[in-house]
Amino acid sequence: MSTVSSYTTCPHCSSDECSVDFDTHTNESYLLCYACGYYKITAYENKEGKTNKRVIQEINNPYGCFDFKMKESVSHTVIALSSERDYIKLLRKLKKLGLHSFECATLSRVIDGRRTITDLLSKG
Ligand SMILES: [Zn+2]
Repeated sequence: MSTVSSYTTCPHCSSDECSVDFDTHTNESYLLCYACGYYKITAYENKEGKTNKRVIQEINNPYGCFDFKMKESVSHTVIALSSERDYIKLLRKLKKLGLHSFECATLSRVIDGRRTITDLLSKG
């Protein structure tokens, strides 16, 4: 997988913390907003000199963006959440691992244009 990464303005909440990764092998772009959890996968096809776009997956009314890092891991995991139900399910899974095994775990949401970041480890 070869990707070209950049940032753009989120089409959902207008945050500048929206990453775009373009996979040059599959011709797919992955858009993820770290502020609100907006998520979109778009496939690009070149046919007869024209570029056709096709949306493969989209979370256009996100619940939030969950970001965590395990203590033994070198990288963060960022997950776009489509609903509160998804968030609760994810929390249950992570709590089974034990909160002591996380270096950080935050939920970022944008509600009525205002961003809130909840630190889940400080809540206990
Ligand atoms: Zn956003």
